[in-house]
Amino acid sequence: KPMTIITIGMAGAGKSTFVQRLNSHLHALDPPSPPYIVNLDPAVTYTPYEPNIDIRDTVNYQEVMKQFVSYNLGPNGGILTALNLFTTKFDQVLTLIEQRADSVDYVVLDTPGQIEIFTWSASGAIITDAVASSLPTVVAYIIDTPRTTAPATFMSNMLYACSILYKTKLPFILVFNKTDVQPHDFALEWMSDFEEFQAALATHEGARDAEGEPTYMNSLMNSMSLVLDEFYKNLKAVGVSSVTGDGFKEFLEAVEGSREEYEKDYLPELQRAR
Ligand code: GDP
Repeated sequence: KPMTIITIGMAGAGKSTFVQRLNSHLHALDPPSPPYIVNLDPAVTYTPYEPNIDIRDTVNYQEVMKQFVSYNLGPNGGILTALNLFTTKFDQVLTLIEQRADSVDYVVLDTPGQIEIFTWSASGAIITDAVASSLPTVVAYIIDTPRTTAPATFMSNMLYACSILYKTKLPFILVFNKTDVQPHDFALEWMSDFEEFQAALATHEGARDAEGEPTYMNSLMNSMSLVLDEFYKNLKAVGVSSVTGDGFKEFLEAVEGSREEYEKDYLPELQRAR
């Protein structure tokens, strides 16, 4: 059975570039293993790859926008509405994917640029559950590594990842992207040893107030790093560069590892729920 990779990430983290690189990496394997790609972003004007299924072929986002302008929905409301309309037809999409199940190794889902439209909508949950109950599935959370070197930013990003993990309950890979610009070793260090992270916290700007006492934010983050320690144990982390292709071999190994996790943890849960 193919493995489904749901790519999620903050706007600008490099999600589209990542999917493009993953696509070319899989094409270049010996033997080649072209993935089946589904684009779920109705508002994207250009994708650097050729999706097999494209929400834009089904739903005309511009038309939806025009119709909803009188409701003052704004661009995000338009994207969400387009995603909702697409979700009503997702059973057909799933049938198409399942028809290919024997001939592909990977199904890749590219999600809307604004992360919360997918992670915090009913449609996002319906699509995720539908795919995950049909095929082994993993979430690839794309991180903008150069922009996450400040302890506070790092922590917010990890908390966001944490919320997605607990919402989907799926196997999860943290993908530290753009390692050509910023290696991700600092992140691995912070994740494996919370005292390292707390040391970074203690020296960063704003750690102490005018009297030299730790600030409220600093104490809060110190406590939260203990909570996150538990979260880190439940996931895999890899560093990649979507520009150079570095780390994609390791990424695919992490995906393979997630297959076992899916079968051992997610699937029994799913069967129990039924
Ligand atoms: P998305 O909004 O998450 O889909 O992000 P994009 O794929 O559009 O990428 C955002 C920006 O980051 C673009 O300018 C990309 O060229 C750049 N980018 C993406 N991946 C990498 C990478 O691995 N290394 C570098 N240096 N830049 C990257």
